Amino acid sequence: MRVMVKAVLVSSMLQWVPFAAQAQSAADRFRPAAARILGTSLQSSTAYDQLGELCDQVGNRISGSERLDQAIAWAVKTMKADGLQNVHTEKILVPHWKRGVERAWTLAPQRHELSILGLGMSVPTPKGGITADVVVVGSFDELDRLGEAGVKDRIVLYDVPFAGYGQTVGYRVAGASRAARYGAVASLVRSVGSLSFDTPHTGTLAYDEKLPKIPSVAVTIENSAMMRRMAQRGERIQLHLEIENEFITDQPSANVVGEIVGSDRPQEVVLMGGHLDSWDVGQGAQDDGVGCLITLGAAKAILDAGLRPKRTIRVVFFTNEENGDKGGKGYRDAHKAELGNFVAALESDSGNGPVKGFTLDFHGEGRNKAVITTPEEKARAEKGLALLKSLAPLLEPLDAAKMELGGSGTDVGPTVAEGVPGLGVGHDTTHYWEIHHTKADTFDKVIKLDMQKNIAAVGILAYALAEMEGSLR
Ligand SMILES: [Zn+2]
Repeated sequence: MRVMVKAVLVSSMLQWVPFAAQAQSAADRFRPAAARILGTSLQSSTAYDQLGELCDQVGNRISGSERLDQAIAWAVKTMKADGLQNVHTEKILVPHWKRGVERAWTLAPQRHELSILGLGMSVPTPKGGITADVVVVGSFDELDRLGEAGVKDRIVLYDVPFAGYGQTVGYRVAGASRAARYGAVASLVRSVGSLSFDTPHTGTLAYDEKLPKIPSVAVTIENSAMMRRMAQRGERIQLHLEIENEFITDQPSANVVGEIVGSDRPQEVVLMGGHLDSWDVGQGAQDDGVGCLITLGAAKAILDAGLRPKRTIRVVFFTNEENGDKGGKGYRDAHKAELGNFVAALESDSGNGPVKGFTLDFHGEGRNKAVITTPEEKARAEKGLALLKSLAPLLEPLDAAKMELGGSGTDVGPTVAEGVPGLGVGHDTTHYWEIHHTKADTFDKVIKLDMQKNIAAVGILAYALAEMEGSLR
């Protein structure tokens, strides 16, 4: 079955090659190269096997941990083995937040052990934990209506169903401080994910420095729904929470960089990458080991195809995306002088779902920012999209040809905000939010053929951007 799919894909690309000689369009010019990149991507298991190594030999890798250091050393070795040039690390100082013992149970109306994961960067509970009544809210509006009278000295549970990551993640990020404003002693958030088999989804929070810092944890969808039902019955919910997280001094870490040096205009750069750090649960397989290895695999597929583009293709594995974005910010700071020569900064950081297309970002403020505010932005967007759409036929055999405005990625965001055109890899995220930031983000769920096709899509676009006459700038 798998072989058949590959054969059909390759032959559908190859059938187009004869047209290349006659036609003039950018897509036609790159068809032979695209067919070769597709071929090398589908024939290689290297990136998939490398991801297996990263997951099993290193495992999860939170910023500041020894495992992240191991992953960085592994990445240097792996980029060199793949044939990249100028492989090196660039030092970055990162926060080191460490999870300790975490437990919670309801005391009333009945004792239930809860499945929790502390939110990254949460403060610990006082020694001995916190015991308090729970108040369940479904929105910040509801919290505001309750005010201090309904919230003070209580634990707030945000029971907000998943309506898309961007739409729901605010409760995880800002919920603790919003509750602390009214005197809450802790906050719980229903996991920001689309599915749970008793799997809490962690993720970072951000405290408002002007308000007291209260401990905050994710509870499972199952536990959140149970407490919602208890509240609806008018039952008093009493809960005990203990978390022993600690902050350790900032640690040295690094971005890992490797290149295919351009043959003609090496100072002009197509940057592409993902982030090597992960949360401290699961294996960080789809968030974001796979994004790193899709971009490295794409570079390798270009080399394996015997191609050497005019511009430099630079692969960057960023550090500390999950709880600080120090890798992305540090990269921008260290390379400010050369960012004017970058023609694109692409990031793959939404799992290994089939790539459906790419999103063009001129803002760099994160995801879902397809906002046009000025005539200059409108002109840039129209020009950029027209260029991407001229290349889209190369991606049609992979069903990855959808080009639209959108976000790029957290790591490339600071670079994009400096004027470098950003590209987000538009993975199908249907199953990504089921396992995102959970113990279930493990290698077994990475589908090899999807990864090979994703590598091909990124490789074809990166090659064309590095080889073509014009640019997105
Ligand atoms: Zn990520």
